[in-house]
Amino acid sequence: MKIAVAKEIEVCERRVALIPDTVAKLVKQGLEVWVEAGAGEKAFFSDADYEAAGAKISHDSAQVWSEADILLKVSPPQTREDGRTEIELLKSGSVLISFLNPLGNPVIAQQLANRQITALSMELIPRTTRAQSMDALSSQASLAGYKAVLIAAAALPKYFPMLTTAAGTIPPAKVFIMGAGVAGLQAIATARRLGAVVEAFDIRPAVKEEVQSLGAKFVEVKLEEETVAAGGYAKEISEDSKKRTQELVASHVKNSDIVITTAQVPGRQAPRLVTEEMVAQMKPGSVIVDLAAEQGGNCACTEAGKDIVWNGVTIIGPINLPSSMPVHASQLYAKNITSLMQLLIKDKALEINFSDDIVDAACVTHGGEIRNQRVKDALQAVAV
Ligand code: NAD
Repeated sequence: MKIAVAKEIEVCERRVALIPDTVAKLVKQGLEVWVEAGAGEKAFFSDADYEAAGAKISHDSAQVWSEADILLKVSPPQTREDGRTEIELLKSGSVLISFLNPLGNPVIAQQLANRQITALSMELIPRTTRAQSMDALSSQASLAGYKAVLIAAAALPKYFPMLTTAAGTIPPAKVFIMGAGVAGLQAIATARRLGAVVEAFDIRPAVKEEVQSLGAKFVEVKLEEETVAAGGYAKEISEDSKKRTQELVASHVKNSDIVITTAQVPGRQAPRLVTEEMVAQMKPGSVIVDLAAEQGGNCACTEAGKDIVWNGVTIIGPINLPSSMPVHASQLYAKNITSLMQLLIKDKALEINFSDDIVDAACVTHGGEIRNQRVKDALQAVAV
């Protein structure tokens, strides 16, 4: 059985699905690992490193794709320069493991089903204790939360920590984190380490203690509706609750030097938390980093992939932040993906067992069918 690591062609993608250390572990299990030449280059892992770990390097990309029994990737399949899609290159009946964004782009699921691919989407790994080592959403969100604070600190025309110097006293920067999930909690921890005074807000009341344990103040809004959906994720809240939360957070946004927004509701457009009016109230020189830029933005002024200055406030809408730290992003992702593979390979052979809840949840397509009802619904909505 051939396991292959693809070279990413998406322009912003610098991560790679396996790093040499994880290749060595798979090879030790008696598995055959192929790596497309240059696959790890942008993450600073050379072909020689992979070869030393026991992988075979192939310069024939089409061959790697068409012969792999399990193809490992980071970004969803793309269209190549020659106009062929990567999905077309896959061997019918093979397994693809990657981020696939099947809820945001359900057409991809249909294309994979048509090619009889068994596709496992890293976004669909359940957020359970047993699946923790496979949870790529968490490993990558944590990198994004960390980097968001560094970007904000670099853009802020001020210090972060309080300083008492012979030339005077500098007050600490005020940071407001909106959305205290995995990225938000890492952003809180990072901003605290840099010496800022941090406040955080989330509609899930359960995060209050986590926020406080990181040394931040929790901004609480009491809503009269259930805000938590299955799996611990946030629900989309009513218009009335949105209005109440906006009223509550407005003064915190106004008084902050930095606002970092991370709020998401799976499968939906990102909730709008920061309005134009709120940005207009912020001090010139303040900075907003919107981690939901790719999902439509938590801030009304965000432009995905751009840094803009609006009324003196810098608004940064980064795309694919984990990819800007490709060494550790790849290391963590490689661990996530190899942990998942341990559920799929028994005695060096592929064994897709749908009675395993993790495999069942992550597998989007199998046997020519889309297996996930939410993806089917999303596909139908696109078709209408
Ligand atoms: P996410 O990226 O979907 O959302 C980020 C945060 O935005 C969440 O905390 C969410 O509550 C918040 N949010 C959504 N709408 C909002 C609004 N209108 N206003 C303010 N905040 C809003 O979430 P995530 O970080 O991927 O994870 C969230 C959940 O998954 C958490 O419950 C976490 O505990 C759980 N989780 C569990 C495990 C595990 O048990 N193994 C692992 C990872 C995450």
